[in-house]
Parts: sequence; C-alpha cells; structure tokens
Amino acid sequence: MTGPSQPAQAFLPDADGWVPAARRVPSPNFDQRPPGMPVDLVVLHNISLPPGQFGSGDIEAFFQNRLDPDKHSFFATIHQVQVSAHFLVTRQGELVQFVPCTQRAWHAGQSDFFGRTRCNDFSIGIEIEGCDDLPFTSAQYDTVAALVPALMAVYPVRAIAGHSDIAPGRKTDPGPHFDWDRLAADAAVPPGMLPYRHTTG
Ligand SMILES: [Zn+2]
Repeated sequence: MTGPSQPAQAFLPDADGWVPAARRVPSPNFDQRPPGMPVDLVVLHNISLPPGQFGSGDIEAFFQNRLDPDKHSFFATIHQVQVSAHFLVTRQGELVQFVPCTQRAWHAGQSDFFGRTRCNDFSIGIEIEGCDDLPFTSAQYDTVAALVPALMAVYPVRAIAGHSDIAPGRKTDPGPHFDWDRLAADAAVPPGMLPYRHTTG
C-alpha cells in the first residue's frame, strides 16, 4: 500500500516526473508537452468505473486501453476512448501514477483556464476515485494533501482547479462533495492558488 504514511520526500517527482510513492501503471495515452511550456496548473477530477462503483480496477484498465466492452453496458460506449491522467487516488488513498508529470496526459479535453486553452499542455491531472454524489474519504484527502505540496515544490504550480472550472457546462467533477477548504488547510495551499474558490471571512 502506498499513501500518506510514506515520508513527504517520497511524493516529490523525480527528474523523469515519476513519484516514488506511487504505484506505477503506465498508460500509452500521453505525448510531449509543447517545448518550454511550464507546468503551472493542477486539475482535480473524480472518476468511477463502472459509474458509482469503486475498487473494480477498471479505471486502470480504461487508462491502459484494455477496458472490457462486454463487462458493463457503459464500457461498450467508452472502451475505445484514449484518455489518461497523471495520477489516481483510490478510495483507500493509494496513489497510482499513469503518466510522468513531464509528459502531457490526456485528462482535461477542451478546456479554458482564464483564457489559456488546451489545459493538458500545462497541467497535471489528478483523478480522485469517486463520484458527484458521495463524499470522498479521509485517506483520499490525506494523499492529495501529500501530493499537491510535492508537485508545488518541483513545478511552478500557480493554481489548482477542478475539471468543472476549466470545462464548465461540459464537466461537473470533482463535484459538490469535494471539500476545497479541507484541501487548502491540509496542503497549506494559499487562497490565491484557488482562483475559482470564493473564500469567506
Ligand atoms: Zn474530469
């Protein structure tokens, strides 16, 4: 089991963009970032496969283009879609990595971050196993809160956004149950790095 029980050092990406604390499940669904493009945005998502179910292993299969179209009716509609994210945080808080941070994972799709489109070019995508209808687990917050500061230490990250922030009307994740205040507190994220959140008080 990997997760926040590991030392903070283990969450720092190495020179190739792999995080030692993560279990590596390489995805072929990536390509090179544009030359000289700084990695300055973290995008948070939720995903569950089959929808609303956890722990099936099908997210890993999906990102490795080996989803079984006969296993579930929904899979037949998506099994040929080639997507990925850099990371997945399971319900148990295990960290899985599919694409090195130095490369461009295919997670955001058509997107716009304050006028900068094609967010995959400059972002790191973190999928949190879950759905829009259920709370996330404490173990997941712990792992995301360990990973985000490590990414901020290695890359010039200036903001953290939800997929729904950069693809409004098209995407709803990570959804209403994601507690941004909890992440901000646990990961010591300055309010200015959450440009879509409106803090009070
Ligand atoms: Zn998403």
